[in-house]
Amino acid sequence: MKQFYEQTKDEVLKQLSVNENTGLTDEQVKQSREKYGENKLPEKENDPYWKIFLRSFKEPIVIVLLGAVILSLASSVYAFQAQGDAEHGMESLYEAISILILIIINALLGFWQEVNAQKSLNALRQMNDRFVSAFRNSEWRQIPTNQVVVGDLLQVKIGDFVEADVRWITTDELQVNESHLTGESDAVSKNTKVIDKDVGIADRVNMGYSGSTVVNGQGVGIVVGIGTNTELGNIADLISSVEEKPSPLQNTISRLTRILMYFSGVIVILTLVIGILRAGELSVESITNILSTSIALAVSSIPDALPAVLSIVLTIGAAQMAKNKGLIKSLKSVETLGSTSYICSDKTGTLTQNKMTATRLYDGQYTYNVSGSGYSTTGKIETEDGIEAKPSTFLEGAVLCNESVIREEDGQVVPFGNPTDIALNVLGKKAGLTKDELLKTNTITRTFPFTSQRKMMSVVVKNDDGYRIYTKGAPDVLLSNCSNILLNNVQVTTQEALSKFLGIIDNFANDALRTISVGYRELTEDEAKNGTLESLETNLSLVGVAGIMDPPRPGVNESVNTLHDAGVSVVMITGDHANTARAIAYNLGIVDSKNAKVVSGSDIEKMTDDELYQTVVNTNVYARVAPEHKQRIVKQLQKHKQVVAMTGDGINDAPALRAADIGIAMGINGTDVTKDSADLILLDDQFTTIEKAVQSGRTVYANIKNFMRHELITNVAEILSLFLGLLFFNSRVGNVPAETPTLTALMVLWINMISDSVPSFALGYDVAEADIMKEKPRDPNESILANYTWSRVLIRGSAMGLLVYLSFIWSARSGMSVNETQTVAFLTLAFGQLWQVFDARSSYTLFRRNPFENHRLLLAVAFAAVTSILVTLIPLFHVVMGTATLPGWIYPVVIFVPALPTLILSALKELFKIKIW
Ligand code: ADP
Ligand code: MG
Repeated sequence: MKQFYEQTKDEVLKQLSVNENTGLTDEQVKQSREKYGENKLPEKENDPYWKIFLRSFKEPIVIVLLGAVILSLASSVYAFQAQGDAEHGMESLYEAISILILIIINALLGFWQEVNAQKSLNALRQMNDRFVSAFRNSEWRQIPTNQVVVGDLLQVKIGDFVEADVRWITTDELQVNESHLTGESDAVSKNTKVIDKDVGIADRVNMGYSGSTVVNGQGVGIVVGIGTNTELGNIADLISSVEEKPSPLQNTISRLTRILMYFSGVIVILTLVIGILRAGELSVESITNILSTSIALAVSSIPDALPAVLSIVLTIGAAQMAKNKGLIKSLKSVETLGSTSYICSDKTGTLTQNKMTATRLYDGQYTYNVSGSGYSTTGKIETEDGIEAKPSTFLEGAVLCNESVIREEDGQVVPFGNPTDIALNVLGKKAGLTKDELLKTNTITRTFPFTSQRKMMSVVVKNDDGYRIYTKGAPDVLLSNCSNILLNNVQVTTQEALSKFLGIIDNFANDALRTISVGYRELTEDEAKNGTLESLETNLSLVGVAGIMDPPRPGVNESVNTLHDAGVSVVMITGDHANTARAIAYNLGIVDSKNAKVVSGSDIEKMTDDELYQTVVNTNVYARVAPEHKQRIVKQLQKHKQVVAMTGDGINDAPALRAADIGIAMGINGTDVTKDSADLILLDDQFTTIEKAVQSGRTVYANIKNFMRHELITNVAEILSLFLGLLFFNSRVGNVPAETPTLTALMVLWINMISDSVPSFALGYDVAEADIMKEKPRDPNESILANYTWSRVLIRGSAMGLLVYLSFIWSARSGMSVNETQTVAFLTLAFGQLWQVFDARSSYTLFRRNPFENHRLLLAVAFAAVTSILVTLIPLFHVVMGTATLPGWIYPVVIFVPALPTLILSALKELFKIKIW
């Protein structure tokens, strides 16, 4: 059988039973899907639940805990066998069992968190699914890529991916990049002609292949292969669905946890050695006590939940950003966003509404004002003296060289196409010119779409008089392709005419208007049919200019101010005229002077990298920029150690987006290729969304820091109180024998896993601190423990640990039993940390934050408080944890006294501006 590229278009259509005029019917789609399946490559499956569950047993904490179980069992066996001491034997046995239960609870929690995180990540991924235009049931529809079936007619245009293997049936200056299959990095021109010999993929110019990118023009193809039955499918192994590389912070934290684990190992050994040396005579009691202390220490020195909570908090951040219309593609970006120091943004559509209205016109004779707003076609084009504009070559060119369509339905204008073109279409209509009317006598034979490099678009038009090219584009750029200017219908080449023309452009641009000119030239038939783009867009006559208004988006001004306060520089990068750019940048507060410096694309062209390096730090507006300049700007800013976010919408922006620390693509107007290379997708195309994402990034980082701070303070307090006991509690006090640990191992576990973990987890959901957008961006290389975090952890933790030890001594002195004494220490620590958590959530002290803001935290604290008291009341826990019911009057004391270290230290900090705690 002949290959698809060896068949004519009609043969292919026939072979696949497709009617070109209607596309597939729903029935055919169903049959095709049943036959060939879905259009996707096999993905790496999510791990099954049991695997996720088992994974949490690999965490360091679990290993330490299992060690503790073994120690407890050993101690139990020793008590039973060697000493026949059933009471101590049972105690150690209970301890072993309870630790096991806690290990399982911990595994379940980890499991639950991971499954949840995976769900949110999957949801985020789905939001990032791609769509294609397919012709089915006689209409063009947007369908998800995986729904494409063999026989579908797909339309592609510049910036799209080809989403299946296709045989082209119409092509319009279509060029694609197939380097993933052929290794050839230049774009290949495509056509629809039959190839009647056996050729390799690179030469099958009437075929398109899945995974290629469209770099020019447009085309329609019939799908001949999908999913694994594509050339891509032949070479692609399993594609791992969005790789989750650990973020720098995650790496830092795993390292920290590992260090703490070694530390814990050392402590355990040290305790054992000190304990045994100290005890002199080894009784069962002293041995089990020593073991108990070392287990408690081992458990207390690891911030167990850290790594798990970290990825959860990052995921929460990503989900929150998505809710605010910022779709993040990897957890790493959540973190990077928080340290962003430069935001380079496109102007049109991001800072402005991209709702264009032509408000001024110069047609080579008069300058007119245009009335009417938005896309409404009612309005007048009049000079100040009341002369109305008549159809002109400018308007003809502007309407014919135009890819938009406007229809009126119920008196409403329904526009399709790009806003610049729509504005010109509307302008034509106001002067009585419509495209439909013009197309009755003119045929467009070739179209060269607008590109942001050329800043022009052209059409070749045929009518009774012959062929003509109309080019429309940025006036100053177009001028260099013109040999004369048409004034009052006469072609002139004088300097005077040129200056007048440039004056008008400046005039329009200074009023923040976007300027567009038209040029034209008569062509011979040969030129018209075979001329290249370069040869056609030359020697034109310039025929006027329109000024187009594009109002700023609401809220941008405020966002820019917020970012400036936050130490983030905002840079506008646009293809527009320098004066237009400057005027709009001034209106938006991006620059604070009407005469601010504007660097143009051609300036950048002339600069060396070193010169550009000097320029980038004090330039906030770039005009007439081409996509390749963006990449240079990013690189030089990065040399200044800036963290750069860069937006882009066209296919040529992709390299700049990849080079940036945060590449930002537009969700609505962006091309698939830019979305693919971006880290953040603005679902609403709005600049304000970037600002919100930066704020979320900062909040996430702050929350992680708060969480860490709290966890570590607890660990320090536990270690210190146990260690003080080990060092100093070596003679009997009241009813409490020497070497009794300050806290039992299970009390420590309880605090770590329940009464402390639950509230610190709630810190991950905390809202932003009021001044989070008032601080300078964080240095991305800064340690999470920088800025006094270490000293704060040590000092606060030590104060708490000391108080716990003092409460222990005090209880022993007042004649309480062993269990009562340890219970007082336990409640002191538990409540101390419940007060401290309100301080941990502030970058300064608890007095700076409203304690009722975070409802989850309040719930968590209430839960922890109630359960911590319950374990002292319920007999079962007395046996297991070694707690005891205390006399009623002690409860208020152990609830409120532990607030003192936090309150006193924070008050001193506020009074004397002491940063170290
Ligand atoms: P930006 O996205 O920053 O607004 P563009 O690359 O879209 O910049 O536009 C740059 C210039 O190209 C505009 O100032 C205008 O003169 C011209 N231009 C824009 N759109 C079109 C179009 N569809 N056809 C012809 N010229 C255009
Ligand atoms: Mg644009």
